[in-house]
Amino acid sequence: MAAEDQRPSAAERGAHAANRLLDLVFPQNIYCLCCGDTMENSRVHGICDKCAEKINWLDHDPFRASLEDFAFDHVMSCCVYGFYPRKIMHDLKLHGKPYIARSIGPLMAEKALMEGGDHTAVVPVPCTKAKKKKRGYNQAELLAKYAAKELELPVWTDVLMKVKETPSMRLSTGEERRNLMQGVFSVDQNTCAKLRGADILLVDDVLTTGSTADACARTLKDAGAKTVSVLCFASSARAFEPELERELRLSDTDGEMVPERYTGSENAGNRLYN
Ligand SMILES: [Zn+2]
Repeated sequence: MAAEDQRPSAAERGAHAANRLLDLVFPQNIYCLCCGDTMENSRVHGICDKCAEKINWLDHDPFRASLEDFAFDHVMSCCVYGFYPRKIMHDLKLHGKPYIARSIGPLMAEKALMEGGDHTAVVPVPCTKAKKKKRGYNQAELLAKYAAKELELPVWTDVLMKVKETPSMRLSTGEERRNLMQGVFSVDQNTCAKLRGADILLVDDVLTTGSTADACARTLKDAGAKTVSVLCFASSARAFEPELERELRLSDTDGEMVPERYTGSENAGNRLYN
């Protein structure tokens, strides 16, 4: 990639400036990211106690039960993609609130620290240049940046590229999705040498079917990465079990239906949150 492509766009510089300004206007962790209420005791991750209780914090990511179906080696998500996590991610991604990553990135880092593992670098799931230009930022990149800061790891944003938009694949099977994802991601030939033998922590906002993370992991490994661990804020219920996935495909509830047995216990949540 040419050096000029690495320079932040006007939109990115704008988002960065807005983020710095927000630090002054809205000091972090005074308003809850979920309900917007002021928090009596400033919480580290910007979620008030009442909302934190309603989130299904995950002990073990449901995708872990079917790792053999994916190119990644390990997977970690903080919580189930239910009502509140969805609100937070929509605000971050669709409602132009990039500063949310300052709270959620460190929360994700804590999850990674709890799980352990040695990582060489953090790689965000990229979006296409067109998408980034339109939004002004890539939410996965912001989450990766703030998580990496806590993890004291470098962030590699120049190795993995998204060269095609993800095709629509709501009704596809796992194998069909894998085929559809072919050629969506690629590595930069000028920078990919550093991937050789690296243990990558791949960061995304939400794990829905696992197809995106799978395609990224496949691309990174083809370029020489030794292992790829996936770190997400939330995991959708879609992949919890085939029957549930079928039900969800029919009802399109977008991960709202979650069997009790798959959600984190109260204790697991408290361990992560406190
Ligand atoms: Zn709240």
